Amino acid sequence: MPTEHDEVQQPELLYHQPFSDEELAYGETIRAFLRREVEPGYDEIGTDSAARHDLWKRAGAAGILGVSVPERFGGAGGGPLLSVILSYELARSLAYATLGSSFTTDLATGLLVAGGSDELIARWAPGIMSGEIIQSTGISEAEAGSDVVAIRTTAVRDGDEYVINGGKIFITNGDIADICYVVAKTDKEARGRGLSLFLMDLRSDGVTRRKLATMGFPGGNTAELHFDHVRVPAGNLLGAEGGAMRQLIATLAEDRIQVGARALGQAELAFDLTLDYARQRHAFGKAIVDFQNTQFQLASMKTEISVGRAFLYEQVRKARSGIATASESAMCKLFLSEASSRVIDGCLQLFGGMGFMDETPISRIYAANRVLRIYAGTSEILRRSIAKDL
Ligand SMILES: Cc1cc2nc3c(=O)[nH]c(=O)nc-3n(C[C@H](O)[C@H](O)[C@H](O)COP(=O)(O)OP(=O)(O)OC[C@H]3O[C@@H](n4cnc5c(N)ncnc54)[C@H](O)[C@@H]3O)c2cc1C
Repeated sequence: MPTEHDEVQQPELLYHQPFSDEELAYGETIRAFLRREVEPGYDEIGTDSAARHDLWKRAGAAGILGVSVPERFGGAGGGPLLSVILSYELARSLAYATLGSSFTTDLATGLLVAGGSDELIARWAPGIMSGEIIQSTGISEAEAGSDVVAIRTTAVRDGDEYVINGGKIFITNGDIADICYVVAKTDKEARGRGLSLFLMDLRSDGVTRRKLATMGFPGGNTAELHFDHVRVPAGNLLGAEGGAMRQLIATLAEDRIQVGARALGQAELAFDLTLDYARQRHAFGKAIVDFQNTQFQLASMKTEISVGRAFLYEQVRKARSGIATASESAMCKLFLSEASSRVIDGCLQLFGGMGFMDETPISRIYAANRVLRIYAGTSEILRRSIAKDL
């Protein structure tokens, strides 16, 4: 007769994982890179431009960057689900606790591939793949975050160029990026249909940057960008004029799923660190893992993680079949980001005072986790989107 213990299996076995061999191999490449290049000095990430460019070039050499560039431009021609793998592996590593979303700006390569002319892709893809070019995405503004249609940055056609005025805020890698995918108004009267997407070279005249200090991941290089008559070649318009919202909505489901994967990775890492700590830490003459409260806390955390993982897998399968919906992908990001916060908060509690110390990884994970409920759609905006479909 099998005992209760014989039936305990890893989540991977309980819920048949939905990734292809190529996607899993990509995950292994990322894991090996982070272990080798980032984790040993994870809390001393160099945030200056030279140090970060050096790290990106090493990531490029490892084959992590620009994987969605089509084969005819020398890329791997990978599908959007590789972003789920990248996001998960980053967060499953201590690297995320200090580096933050930094590497995930590489996912914006999809915007170039989907909307750029052959000439534009050929111009930028080699640098993106080698890590010479660091990307960023500029949607949010001081007066327009959740309400994207309220964007005030303008782009006015002038001969073969657009002249862009305005600014962006909270831009990941904004402090060090070479290029930014900027959403700007080309038609002031048209609301959503008046927004267009441009590839802007941030080394152009008229671009100024202000680095922002953040409560988590000091290596996120979050910045505010200001554009004063920045001239962008007309060929850098991605897709059609007025098409930005359509382009952003086209990637919405995958974007939300990949942030869900990021939350899952963080929760799993925190759980593993906490289980180890609970076995080693003693109080009242026994390991704290021997208290029933600790066991119940860990059991609840494991349950949340397993439920989240199963739902994520379901969404990955749907995305692969082209049937992922905005509403379900919103649920995926909403549940996983909120569940990960509950799990990580519970983990920190089990670390006691050490959990509050900056030198303890769990405190870095805790701080880095908080933003998952804010960016890529706040929890409130996601609930709004889910409610709309009811
Ligand atoms: C670390 C970090 C990195 C980021 N990176 C990038 C980046 O690379 N590129 C980029 O473009 N942006 C980036 N962002 C911006 C991020 O996407 C926005 O912060 C987010 O969309 C929320 O916008 P907001 O900050 O203007 O908040 P607001 O929209 O002002 O919202 C404030 C509060 O009001 C709530 N609220 C707003 N509207 C509603 C509503 N209709 N119903 C109920 N509640 C509502 C919100 O949920 C929130 O709680 C980043 C943010 C952070 C913190």
